[in-house]
Amino acid sequence: MSSFKDFSFAGKKALIRVDFNVPLNDAFEITDDNRMRATIPTITKILKDGGSVILMSHLGRPKEGPTDKYSLKHIVAHLSKLVGVEVQFANDCIGAEAIDKAAALQAGQVLLLENLRFYKEEEKGDIAFAEKLSKLGDVYVNDAFGTAHRAHASTAIIAQFFSPANRTFGWVMEGEVMSAEKVMHAAQKPFVAIIGGAKVSDKILIIENLLDRATDIIIGGGMAYTFFKAQGGKIGKSIHEDDRMPLALEILAKAKAKGVHIHLPVDNLVADDFSNIANTQTCASGEIPDGWEGLDVGEKSREQFAKVILASKTILWNGPMGVFEMENFQAGTKAIAVAVAEATQNGAFSLVGGGDSVSAVNQFGFNDKVSYVSTGGGAMLEYFEGKTLPGIAAIKG
Ligand code: AMP
Repeated sequence: MSSFKDFSFAGKKALIRVDFNVPLNDAFEITDDNRMRATIPTITKILKDGGSVILMSHLGRPKEGPTDKYSLKHIVAHLSKLVGVEVQFANDCIGAEAIDKAAALQAGQVLLLENLRFYKEEEKGDIAFAEKLSKLGDVYVNDAFGTAHRAHASTAIIAQFFSPANRTFGWVMEGEVMSAEKVMHAAQKPFVAIIGGAKVSDKILIIENLLDRATDIIIGGGMAYTFFKAQGGKIGKSIHEDDRMPLALEILAKAKAKGVHIHLPVDNLVADDFSNIANTQTCASGEIPDGWEGLDVGEKSREQFAKVILASKTILWNGPMGVFEMENFQAGTKAIAVAVAEATQNGAFSLVGGGDSVSAVNQFGFNDKVSYVSTGGGAMLEYFEGKTLPGIAAIKG
């Protein structure tokens, strides 16, 4: 598979699956255009090569077919500004208008198709629908990592209608895949995985898969309390999942057997209420009094975690160490961001992925101090759970 950079689009119509599922306010203004901006280099490269571009995406979750609220027409003006070209629009992603407009497209021109999810065939992965879409372009480019874990018509099924020489990842997707593969298959040791967030149940598969790859696993955030309770500790009213306690013990036993070091917090910042202005104190793990709940890792834990991170050559971070949305409980997550940034500066490869750790890194201004920030929450999680992502497999063949 040639890299996107080496692919020549001269004289070709490139059909690109992008992720333009951007948030819109009541006046249909885009409130966060990061997903659109991310794909501009892909579009620009194709236009510079002398090709033309047909963009397809979903927007929101329309249930009843075409709905004005979910029309991609709302983003055309902004997209034109970002690309620097007047973007044309087809009111339907398949059918006569799309076919005619795609056929008439000249080099340097851009066409955006209406929301793919106006057809239920999209999410069903319908082959006939995918084939209709495929007819619009000469080359298929997938640049939507955020939907790579879905076997939808436009993200995976469509690829079979293009020969391997006529399908490729775009810049966004290629960057995501390369970073993820580097961590998953070519990680330099020591390799630390930092796993946080609210629930063990959401992260169980990723932890299990990482037990075969990482040298160290730091477990923080709300999920740590299930581990403490399972070991007979007192956790007060901290968030936990009783039904996952056996699994937590199993993970600890498996890690021991495999020689993987699990690092749980040794101390916790606890509060008497789930509120930024609650009373707080620091408690050793397993010794949280009744009526108190752990909302962040304590200072000693931060220091210990930082030491592990600074000694690592590969770092994967998914999930915050505490309720970082509240100012008084963000020190643990911030300490991780600082340590990951420092380790990266010292030569480690760091990949941050999953919605909340990405928001944290952005919020603290560390996004350009780590090696790679993944845009695909669910896709990245599934990748590190060891699953094959249909969107990747379809391009690689
Ligand atoms: P996740 O989406 O699973 O990565 O979880 C992220 C969420 O976990 C964030 O909204 C955090 O506020 C929350 N969280 C992290 N630590 C705790 C905690 N100790 N108690 C309650 N919620 C937490």
